Amino acid sequence: MKSNRFSLRALIILSLAGILLINTLVMIYFIVSFDFQEVAGKDIVENPYLWLGVFMVLVILFFMTLIIIINKAIFEPIFAMKRAAEHIKSGNLNYPIVYDAENEIGDFCREFDKMRIRLKDTIQEQHEIEKRRKRLIASITHDLRTPLTSIKGYVEAIQDGIVKDQETYEKYLETISDKADYLNHLIDDLSVYTKQELGEFTLNRERLNSGRLLNSYFDHKTEDFRELPLTLILHKPFISTFINVDPYRFNQILENLINNAQKYANNVIEVRTRVVNYHLQITISDDGDGIPEDVISNIFDPFFMVNKVKDQKEKGGSGLGLAIVKQLTERHDGFISVNSIVGKGTTFTVDFPLDL
Ligand code: ADP
Repeated sequence: MKSNRFSLRALIILSLAGILLINTLVMIYFIVSFDFQEVAGKDIVENPYLWLGVFMVLVILFFMTLIIIINKAIFEPIFAMKRAAEHIKSGNLNYPIVYDAENEIGDFCREFDKMRIRLKDTIQEQHEIEKRRKRLIASITHDLRTPLTSIKGYVEAIQDGIVKDQETYEKYLETISDKADYLNHLIDDLSVYTKQELGEFTLNRERLNSGRLLNSYFDHKTEDFRELPLTLILHKPFISTFINVDPYRFNQILENLINNAQKYANNVIEVRTRVVNYHLQITISDDGDGIPEDVISNIFDPFFMVNKVKDQKEKGGSGLGLAIVKQLTERHDGFISVNSIVGKGTTFTVDFPLDL
């Protein structure tokens, strides 16, 4: 049911004006029907004209003040909110409601303004997510297309009979195989990353001993390092405490960080553990060329590589490793940080809350 629309302000002003009018009429009636002969010649203080006049002025002043107060306390903030709502409706979320009276309407305006700020933040977050999603799709498309184009080029060269000698033929096949391996690796990383991004994977967390976990991972790793021109220094004994982690994902975090250190170290990789603020801290340091300061804040972004040509071609990177490590660490209520000095090396630190 649709009710007739009245301006609330007009309604209140009309009611007050009505009361004022009735008052005035009553007084006029009183004046008209008063027997003035009776009071003539009396003292001024006893003169009813004076008292009626004072009373009338007081009543008028009272109602006028009431109208001003109601206008200021109720209608001004309501109009301010209406203006703000119109701005919000037209997409301008930067228009604040400035009304800070300590009363119910003030509370209401403050809540309304908080709602505006929250809405603004949510829209900004959505814009960011959308921008990231577009960047991600652009990077995926680019990173998948580049090796595919190259595979196609080599296959066509073989099919067209351009390759005459056995040596070139084998070199071409080897390149095709490398590119296919790279695509495989990229798709694996992408699959892990998107599953995590969409929350489509579960963690099987258990309360586990950190010393045992680290020893078991590095026992295997030490074997791999025997064949590498790198020294892996493990600062043992590793801290033996309890953390609540998915052992498979925990190993995946270490594996990604160690693989990176392996790719970028010049001679030495060091692993240390300590407990800080009820967190187990694992640091993995290398003596590589380091990460330039101006790009270090992008290091955990998906597909980010300091030197795309070198990192992708020479190191076979996808630029997803650290993004995956960050997601995984945060899913474990932990966090990751990086410290790097160009020409000296890089240290990654992962923190896991203790499960005492
Ligand atoms: P990928 O999966 O290709 O290894 P990451 O996300 O792990 O990619 O790393 C992103 C980029 O960060 C790398 O391409 C490299 O440029 C830089 N980076 C990562 N770890 C190190 C490191 N230990 N030292 C120097 N640069 C590193």
